[in-house]
Amino acid sequence: MSASADIPAETIAAIATPPGRGGIGIVRISGASLDAIVAGVIGRSIAPRTATFAIFRGTNGEPLDEGLALLFPAPASYTGETVLELQGHGSPAAQKLVLGRCLELGARLAAPGEFTRRAFMNGKLDLAQAESVADLIGAATAAAARAAARSLTGEFSREVRALVDAVTELRMLTEATLDFPEEDIEFVRAADAARRLARLRDRLDGIFARAVTGARLNEGLTVVLVGRPNVGKSSLLNRLVREEAAIVTPIPGTTRDTVERQVEVGGIPLTVVDTAGLRPTEDAVEKIGIERTWAAVERADLALVLVDARDAEDALDRADAAILERLPAGLPRLVVHNKADLAGVAPRTASRDDRTHLWLSALTGAGMELLEREVLAVAGVASAGEDTFIARARHVEALGDAAKHLAAAAGHIDAPSPPLELLAEELREAQDALATITGEFTADDLLGVIFSRFCIGK
Ligand code: GDP
Repeated sequence: MSASADIPAETIAAIATPPGRGGIGIVRISGASLDAIVAGVIGRSIAPRTATFAIFRGTNGEPLDEGLALLFPAPASYTGETVLELQGHGSPAAQKLVLGRCLELGARLAAPGEFTRRAFMNGKLDLAQAESVADLIGAATAAAARAAARSLTGEFSREVRALVDAVTELRMLTEATLDFPEEDIEFVRAADAARRLARLRDRLDGIFARAVTGARLNEGLTVVLVGRPNVGKSSLLNRLVREEAAIVTPIPGTTRDTVERQVEVGGIPLTVVDTAGLRPTEDAVEKIGIERTWAAVERADLALVLVDARDAEDALDRADAAILERLPAGLPRLVVHNKADLAGVAPRTASRDDRTHLWLSALTGAGMELLEREVLAVAGVASAGEDTFIARARHVEALGDAAKHLAAAAGHIDAPSPPLELLAEELREAQDALATITGEFTADDLLGVIFSRFCIGK
């Protein structure tokens, strides 16, 4: 991205520490030249990268606060521009005065994420790293913070770049063959393009799986509760979120619309969706509810299929089996045998037919800790470990896109007479999709969306 042309010349300033009272409060300023601000606030020039004790002064030389001033001349700074940090006291009133003085001296208030946006524009960080700055700040758990730190140091970006390089190599090979038709297809064959592409796809799959885990750590997952009417879906939702979110009655068909609630399990934000019970019906409202249930299933990362624990363990009711059949093939699922109290069985888990079954009671709460553990395990976040990097839905989508184009490319390579133009085109699209992750190929409006979600001062 040729960024320097887009960089606004204005100097930006913001309070970089969180609102409220504290030991230290930092006002941060970034711009092409900060001479006027340094002279106006401190009254003299200061040595670069040295903590200098100073009185921060107002328009008429009156003291506003005192503390340390730190100057980072361009380009060796966070933003790549000259940056000044005024580390005063964590007094919201004093910080506002110091900030106001900087504005008076020609700075303007920074927009959310603007410091990091400038760092990205100046090539200090790529886009995935810039996003991980916000993800690190927003991390709700130690696992998410560690994964964000890993992305921030560029681990995710390096993996993506290595993929881009490998795709580029294959693309060059294909295009060279197109340009020199006399070399023809044997050239591509001899270069072992098919094997290289297969290796590339394997590698992409591995990164995709890690990014899915990273995105879940970051953005959480959607869990949908499905089952026949009256199996206890609403009760389970209420139990999970520890409140009366959904109406519980013994009358089948009470939940006619989907009800959504947020809850944190093991540090992972979960959106739990209770749905209308699934049964054949002629009731128009209930039918709409059932359609919405299937729409919610489409959006979910995990389905909890509730059944009645009193039904025979190994033979699911026909209606339950039909529900399980209808779930999208790739959707992870758990079969939850609810009302274990009525069935007189203790909470437990078991694997059967490649599925995890779990017995609990939404009414008494027995077995809920098993459910929480299984949810994290099935979603793959329980195993989030040393190689997890933080990611976002946007990255997962881009990796998925790239995978689709590489699959199409593999189809072309395997054809009896490979259509080289189409192959080259698929490789190009895969490369573009990957490049959106690091921001080498990212539309301005997307950048606007990404950086606007930052806090001010970062
Ligand atoms: P839904 O239609 O699937 O949402 O089911 P509800 O949550 O409305 O529950 C239907 C009925 O079963 C209500 O009377 C609940 O109190 C009862 N129920 C739900 N879960 C349990 C449970 O684990 N044990 C017992 N004994 N009753 C339950």
